[in-house]
Amino acid sequence: MTIATTLPDARGRFGTYGGRYVPEVLIPALDELAEAWAELRADAGFRAELARLSETFVGRPTPMTRADRLSARLGYEIWLKREDLAHTGAHKINNALGQALLAKRLGKERIIAETGAGMHGVATATACALLGLPCVVYMGEEDTRRQAPNVSRMELLGAEVVPVTAGSRTLKEAVNEALRDWAASVRTTHYIIGSVVGPHPFPVLVRDLQRVIGDEARPQFSGATGGADPDVVTACVGGGSNAIGMFTAFVGTPGIRLIGVEAGGRGSRLGEHCSSLTQGHPGILHGAMSYLLQDDDGQVARTHSISAGLDYPGVGPEHAYLRDAGLAEYVSASDEDALDGFQALSGSEGIIPALEPAHVIGWLLHRPLEPGTSVLVCLSGRGDKDLDTVRASLRIS
Ligand SMILES: *Cc1c(COP(=O)(O)O)cnc(C)c1O
Repeated sequence: MTIATTLPDARGRFGTYGGRYVPEVLIPALDELAEAWAELRADAGFRAELARLSETFVGRPTPMTRADRLSARLGYEIWLKREDLAHTGAHKINNALGQALLAKRLGKERIIAETGAGMHGVATATACALLGLPCVVYMGEEDTRRQAPNVSRMELLGAEVVPVTAGSRTLKEAVNEALRDWAASVRTTHYIIGSVVGPHPFPVLVRDLQRVIGDEARPQFSGATGGADPDVVTACVGGGSNAIGMFTAFVGTPGIRLIGVEAGGRGSRLGEHCSSLTQGHPGILHGAMSYLLQDDDGQVARTHSISAGLDYPGVGPEHAYLRDAGLAEYVSASDEDALDGFQALSGSEGIIPALEPAHVIGWLLHRPLEPGTSVLVCLSGRGDKDLDTVRASLRIS
């Protein structure tokens, strides 16, 4: 089965999910983008340029590390795909660089992006500095305060950071503002969206750029284990890009379980978590139909997670499809689990993970799998950005 490479259909649908729920002014730009991507994704020159920069600038292929001491402690065979070692410290650069190259090919003169924690903003500002493109990043005002070091990084990289003061002043409003800018500037501007969300073709475009994670990891795993596949492939799910990037190489393979870990936050009450696939219902957000956290009136709910990168009420439409089709499973891990995972990986492997993938480690600490299971984890980023949060939560100094 090669589901992930044949979906979405021509209308950008993953089953009933995805699509384009956007103002009409954006349709021509989305059409142009879809057509350009259909050509470029197979274009030898484009692929060679992206491959060269992925190697010489990003540092790909990223290694895969066996987590020996954690494996011994839990009774699993745990392997880590090290996206924390990619330039700028997370998988986000795979997408940002690919889309910036695409924008150049389309003749766009200006880049806009949204960011929550700032990781996608930093990745986009980095790609724009590399390629000489002006860059504007929309960021909720609340996030500019919580993530001040990333604001400094973006500014140093030459980007303009625009604080968004609407609503809860976080990621959801930043996406709204970026979409508003794009509707007014679409002829000259490309919008680099940060995850496998938004209107078609963004979910497929971002997936195609992130699938390098799994395309590298599958042969790395079989090379290290004498030809085997992992029993379980797992990743954290915010918008879902690192998870789709990892899952795509494995989806539909009998015997391999794909497990996405959502942010369970402080508890299961609406507003206390970001578990859209395990606790939400289908709805429309940011131009696409997918699982969504919403109240009884259909209003998009507030969310909470200790990790800003998972703090989003929606999720990419392909995950909604994989969930309903039984091709992937989704679970959730709490803030506390993430803090446990953060400390466990730091202390037993010498790797300080971002709080996002620390949710996966925290989930594994509960021993939810059969003893002896081999587990391939997407370690989506490094934890430097989270030290203040962790220190405050653990009350250490
Ligand atoms: C942004 C981010 C995520 C969440 O985004 P996805 O699109 O779900 O991958 C996860 N991990 C890290 C390190 C991030 O920066």
